[in-house]
Amino acid sequence: MTGKKDLYEVLGVTRNASDEEIKKAYRALAMKYHPDRNVGDEQAAAKFKEAAEAYAVLSDPEKRSLYDRYGHAGLEGAGMPDMADVESIFEHFGDLFSDFFGGGRRRPRGPRPGENIQVRLEIDLVEAARGVRKKITIPRKEICDECRGNGCKRGAQPVACRQCHGRGVVLLSQGFFRIQQTCRGCGGSGVVITDPCPKCRGWGKMDVQRTLDLDLPAGVFDGFTFAVHGEGSAGAPGGPRGDLICEVRVREHPLLQRDGDHLYCRVPITFSQAALGGEVLIPTLEGTVTYQLPAGLQSGELVSLPGKGMPNLRTGRRGDLKVQVIVETPRTLSKRQEELFRQLAELDNKHVTPQRKSFFEKVKEFFKPEHEHHG
Ligand SMILES: [Zn+2]
Ligand SMILES: [Zn+2]
Repeated sequence: MTGKKDLYEVLGVTRNASDEEIKKAYRALAMKYHPDRNVGDEQAAAKFKEAAEAYAVLSDPEKRSLYDRYGHAGLEGAGMPDMADVESIFEHFGDLFSDFFGGGRRRPRGPRPGENIQVRLEIDLVEAARGVRKKITIPRKEICDECRGNGCKRGAQPVACRQCHGRGVVLLSQGFFRIQQTCRGCGGSGVVITDPCPKCRGWGKMDVQRTLDLDLPAGVFDGFTFAVHGEGSAGAPGGPRGDLICEVRVREHPLLQRDGDHLYCRVPITFSQAALGGEVLIPTLEGTVTYQLPAGLQSGELVSLPGKGMPNLRTGRRGDLKVQVIVETPRTLSKRQEELFRQLAELDNKHVTPQRKSFFEKVKEFFKPEHEHHG
């Protein structure tokens, strides 16, 4: 991505625009700034490209959510299409143009590029926090090393297809029209193999298991997607390789929930711990730590352990671990506990806490007869 303009602003839509609204806005801009209508206008070309880049992100639910959460930073390395020129825009969104520009444009001719390979990497939260190297094995297509991709037995050469005379297409007459169709004899390549390579049987490629190490940075989050350039399948001889597109899945942790760079966990405590304070065990990414609770905690209150959260993917600075204490009311009581609670209850009646007092006053106020209320 070049500029850092807000992508929603570029398309002139609101942040909660529907997919349809985004598509419509993009088409309107693409029409307006289309290079065929603005020949030689560099500003229009820039706007056309800008709109395509915004659309590439906002039309992809995963990239859109990354952008919504992390802005442009979330898209760094997220397998963004390279919109270097107008041709590549047509390559990506040609089908969007086809109905108003009659087919858009064709990809420039050349050896076919290799296919992209998509993988999903599952890691756990601790790995996400520390960063991790993962070994993966992917099946991909390589050019056959026996025939170097031409599919022929050593010494033989592909011969021009007789059905299309090497053109790859045939013309069919249909009423008044003549229709051009891909040749069935050669599948459009214009050549046929009479003496196939024994290794690939004329395919020109072979399936290979490729093992490689992928380094995931500390702070990587669920849904993070990146591309490893050139690690996809081989293209036709002379064509570029495809990319390896990796999507990271972070498994849920049984005790720690992540929200951005902060981690959250719930810790049950007893009445007496809430009232008196005391030590509790808190799970962290580095293992369990003992934490001294202050006295007088309310149920649901959060205590913060600074720097015990996740590292930020870009800055490396760690968020906090936020512990929510939940005061658990005992469901069963021993005789002794019951006795003590009864004593406590008697004390509570004598020593009404300020909060309870104001609560009971409000209750009394509420049930006062009408005339007194307006007094
Ligand atoms: Zn071969
Ligand atoms: Zn043919």
